[in-house]
Amino acid sequence: MPHACAVILFSPVNPDAAALPLPLADAKARLCAACGMCCDGTMFELVRLQPADSPKELAALGLKLKRKRGTTCFQQPCSAFRGSHCAIYAQRPERCRVFECRQLQQVATGDTTEGEALQKIEAAREQAAHVTELLSRLGERSSRRRLKQRCEDALAQPAAVFGSPDSASVLAMLSQSISALEALLDADFRLPKDEPTGPTGTSLPR
Ligand code: SF4
Ligand code: SF4
Repeated sequence: MPHACAVILFSPVNPDAAALPLPLADAKARLCAACGMCCDGTMFELVRLQPADSPKELAALGLKLKRKRGTTCFQQPCSAFRGSHCAIYAQRPERCRVFECRQLQQVATGDTTEGEALQKIEAAREQAAHVTELLSRLGERSSRRRLKQRCEDALAQPAAVFGSPDSASVLAMLSQSISALEALLDADFRLPKDEPTGPTGTSLPR
């Protein structure tokens, strides 16, 4: 992803970073390594393949491709994301090569510092962890799906389904927490072109 992702630190050869002044490339690498939210299902639902991508080669590398809304894409959390890095970094898809979130862009332009960007990342990750913990309290642990979708599915159920006396209050907290996280991601990470909602009401592929 940028940046991607976290990956930069783990790539012996990073052509993107090579094109940047070293301190800036290093700062972006450190931030992505501390984040991963554009690969792990926190920020996006899908990543669209581009004309430069070879679906056959990417599928052979293990990406689980599918057709959706007339495009070939892959679901987030990405099957190539390994906790803090991209397992196919050198062969990652085009969108992953060019994407930079708002924080990386602002660090590049000098509108924010690396330290300030890291604070935003930590705040967003903390909020995402809180959402995940609430889902866990409801017994929802399907971490292979996008975080927002997991919340929407849980919130569509009546509290009685979860069989716990505090389910109603947990659902109320979940609703507030995922809304707060989405607002934070829109304000500090997603770009305007990432924000429109698609036919299913979820973020479009980047
Ligand atoms: S959201 Fe931004 S900082 Fe986080 S991994 Fe993606 S590009 Fe890097
Ligand atoms: S292929 Fe997956 S893990 Fe790698 S940069 Fe793209 S979204 Fe992230």
